[in-house]
Amino acid sequence: MQETPEDEDTVIRSALQKWFGYERFRGQQETVIRTVLAEKHALVIMPTGMGKSLCFQIPALVNGELRKRSDSTGHPNHRVPLTLVLSPLIALMKDQVDALRRRKIDATFVNSSLSREQRIQRYRGIAEGHYDLLYVTPERFRKEDFVEALGKRQITLLAVDEAHCISEWGHDFRPDYTRVQEIRERIGNPTTIALTATATPTVQSDIIRQLGLTEEDVTRFHEGINRPNLRLDVVETWGDDNKLQAIEQAWKMLADKSGSGIVYFVLIKTLEEFSRLAIELGIPHVCYHGDLDRGQRRQIQNRFMKGQSRLVFATNAFGMGIDKEDIRFVLHAECPGSMEAYYQEIGRAGRDGEPAECRFLYDQADLMTQMEFIRWSNPDRDYYQTLYQLLVDEPEQVQAFGDEWLRSRLHVRGPQDHRLETALAMMERHGTVIGTLEEDNLTVVGPLAEALRDVEQLDAKRESDQRKLLALVEYVRCEEDRMAFIHHYFGLPYTPDA
Ligand code: ADP
Ligand code: MG
Repeated sequence: MQETPEDEDTVIRSALQKWFGYERFRGQQETVIRTVLAEKHALVIMPTGMGKSLCFQIPALVNGELRKRSDSTGHPNHRVPLTLVLSPLIALMKDQVDALRRRKIDATFVNSSLSREQRIQRYRGIAEGHYDLLYVTPERFRKEDFVEALGKRQITLLAVDEAHCISEWGHDFRPDYTRVQEIRERIGNPTTIALTATATPTVQSDIIRQLGLTEEDVTRFHEGINRPNLRLDVVETWGDDNKLQAIEQAWKMLADKSGSGIVYFVLIKTLEEFSRLAIELGIPHVCYHGDLDRGQRRQIQNRFMKGQSRLVFATNAFGMGIDKEDIRFVLHAECPGSMEAYYQEIGRAGRDGEPAECRFLYDQADLMTQMEFIRWSNPDRDYYQTLYQLLVDEPEQVQAFGDEWLRSRLHVRGPQDHRLETALAMMERHGTVIGTLEEDNLTVVGPLAEALRDVEQLDAKRESDQRKLLALVEYVRCEEDRMAFIHHYFGLPYTPDA
């Protein structure tokens, strides 16, 4: 940026007014924006719903203004600026882009939901210098025609949203959301902003490393997580009757007031069982989980957002994109998988600043479910070796019968056993295979990567998952201020009344 600081302040503030109609920046938004406009990398940790997106959208628009200016000068070799947003959430991409387009912001996305024609049209649009913001998943970089179109642009900013997903030590690691360093290199190592709601110091450092940057390269912004209006408590329960009473009690409390409540479950099976029991008790509610189709989910979400249904029984599928102000309680009927997940879920309570209850119904037996989950998402060395050998020895079978055949040969143990998906994604990440089963183009391209044969490394990953779960057990046992406990976990200073 060539402007003087005063000019830039005005430009940034008027962008907030002009495009978003907001008067004031929240928290550190403005400082973050100035940092990235000064071409410095940033890592932003800010609670969900606070406004992380603005931190890259405004720079994209400011750079976009330059785009329009450069259009008029019309240098034939000049590459038009573009902000590229990496996001793991295909489901939310369209909503996010639609919201921007309603504000007359020139944004678009490319993902697997597009038809061939739409895709070709967007690639052409990119190459021809349209759009200020482009949302894609990292897998898009496997498509050469995409990379080629992108090569016609100057990527002025790379935004990595939900950045905790790129860290193996994060609570929602997605092997296919990695190789960001490689992507950065391909687009000329642009200024990069990584954003997440929850990351422990270890995960923060790992994000920086995964980006191919060093600590000195990156300015960290931590918005803090203090939410003095949340009342945190834990109720130890024995059996379902106990839990049902607690749910009924929470509902009664809500029935006398306004606002809404969420009861979180881990397993759809348990959710449905409790829903049946709650209906018998006359507790009105809706259910939201991953087995419902998209239309149903959207409908339920809308009912909840409008306050037509005030109580939702949900799995963790519920919450992405939920920005409701008046959630008066978040009750956990089953133990979530990590401290991070728990914090993210209770973070949806009391956004309006009014008091809200976050009650954790802790039944020791529920820990077993999570321990199993951890097992099923961490294939061991033998598993990798067996799978690798099958892929090498019997490619015709894999080609012909894919998923089902592999599952039967690997003795899948029930619906929670996700080892195959995880193992294939990890093999892809480490360059052992390319392609996917779904696309019928899975191919072994090298030896089984060292990292996937290294027992110590595999154990370290599993133990890290277990530690995140154990942190919740410690939270349950915690005798002092629970908010202090959470701050300590995320490596943050804590002042009780701030
Ligand atoms: P996050 O990604 O941190 O969860 P979003 O970027 O989706 O949050 O923003 C949540 C909501 O807050 C959006 O509706 C957004 O328009 C709004 N918002 C962001 N910044 C501001 C601001 N400075 N003033 C008012 N509303 C804002
Ligand atoms: Mg966001």
